Amino acid sequence: MRTQVGIVGAGPAGLLLSHLLALRGIDSVVVEIRSRAYCEARQRAGILEHGSVRLLRDAGLAGRLDRQGLEHGGIYLQFDGERHHVDFRALTGRTVTVYAQTEVVKDLIAERITRGGHIEFEVTDTEVDRLDTDQPVLRYTDASGTRHEVVCDAIAGCDGFHGICRPRIPAELLKVTERGYPYAWLGILADVPPSTDELIYSHHKNGFALHSLRSPTVSRLYLQVDPDESIDNWSDQRIWDELQRRFELPGSVWRLEVGPVLDKSITPMRSFVATPMRYGRMFLAGDAAHIVPPTGAKGLNLAIADVAVLAPALDWLLRGKLELADAYTATCMDRVWRATHFSWWMTTMLHRTPGADDMEAALQQSQLRYVSSSRAAATSLAENYTGYPELRYKKD
Ligand SMILES: Cc1cc2nc3c(=O)[nH]c(=O)nc-3n(C[C@H](O)[C@H](O)[C@H](O)COP(=O)(O)OP(=O)(O)OC[C@H]3O[C@@H](n4cnc5c(N)ncnc54)[C@H](O)[C@@H]3O)c2cc1C
Repeated sequence: MRTQVGIVGAGPAGLLLSHLLALRGIDSVVVEIRSRAYCEARQRAGILEHGSVRLLRDAGLAGRLDRQGLEHGGIYLQFDGERHHVDFRALTGRTVTVYAQTEVVKDLIAERITRGGHIEFEVTDTEVDRLDTDQPVLRYTDASGTRHEVVCDAIAGCDGFHGICRPRIPAELLKVTERGYPYAWLGILADVPPSTDELIYSHHKNGFALHSLRSPTVSRLYLQVDPDESIDNWSDQRIWDELQRRFELPGSVWRLEVGPVLDKSITPMRSFVATPMRYGRMFLAGDAAHIVPPTGAKGLNLAIADVAVLAPALDWLLRGKLELADAYTATCMDRVWRATHFSWWMTTMLHRTPGADDMEAALQQSQLRYVSSSRAAATSLAENYTGYPELRYKKD
């Protein structure tokens, strides 16, 4: 087989890249180890930055997003039994949109299939090879057991943190900068209307909690837990009780509505950046190259931003112009490091470190009070949260 770009992974990065390339008349083959149903149901992110929404709209992918996405003009920061609003719209003129990653993925798969895009689900034994030549190859076994070799002009490794592409960069060239955190998030998806109009980030002596949402009828809530915590220790009742405690507002009529838990899981947290994002004719995008803790709502947005840079770079490369491909890592890293810092900053401001002394708690309180009382500090949070630098997607 022959294609122009072989894409490993049908997450947001791989699917969007395949669509952006198709808009430029470039064909691709996307291979994915999971089934279509699994990819469309995998619970992950849910907040789109201002620039991500605009890119999806400009790329003709926002039909359902514009109808069903919920535009949010800010967030609440809760600490010391008080809830403070950070007004993104007033501070930056920008907003974010609540639209689940599951829906982004469904829209992308539907669009690619309608336009005759080639996606192979449930493949096994994916391999990428001859990456330092002009004709790298992608090999996989399809769902029926047939082995394929696809000769490409370039390969995109959009296969997430545990994928096979990043390890193909020789160890002596790969630089990894990494940090683990002494906590994880226990997340639930609940069949109950959100108890809030915008996300609540709560700093509490028992640990951080986040009230997020996926739609007007489905809530997404998180609790800080130890990284080695087992989900079996958390009955639905225990989860709701702890959420009630961490969101409680003494003296207020506000209450957390409870409902059936549809999904629950524990996700570890890490900051991870791998460079370069290119080796020969293989380019990494999204979680394959970098991971951030979810507190800043950046993972999905970074994946979108990477492929917005990669699509024109590949277009130029296929026409023999190497400048954008050569600049790919450096172009992405500006945004990646800004998002990595912001995610680390939000995380360390809001979580309780096990065994931390009184100094840490006092410094966190001071920082939270500053962000919620100073217009300058709040503007910095708002600017980063809604997307900085603002994503500018150019078709050419
Ligand atoms: C459990 C979890 C919860 C998260 N929650 C949030 C959140 O609340 N907020 C937030 O902003 N971000 C969150 N994130 C991060 C966000 O979802 C990711 O940043 C985003 O999915 C990145 O998209 P991607 O396309 O780069 O990678 P992925 O979505 O991981 O897609 C990679 C794809 O590659 C496929 N693949 C892997 N190996 C192979 C192979 N060998 N061959 C073929 N295909 C392969 C995978 O099956 C997958 O479909 C979460 C991530 C995880 C893992």
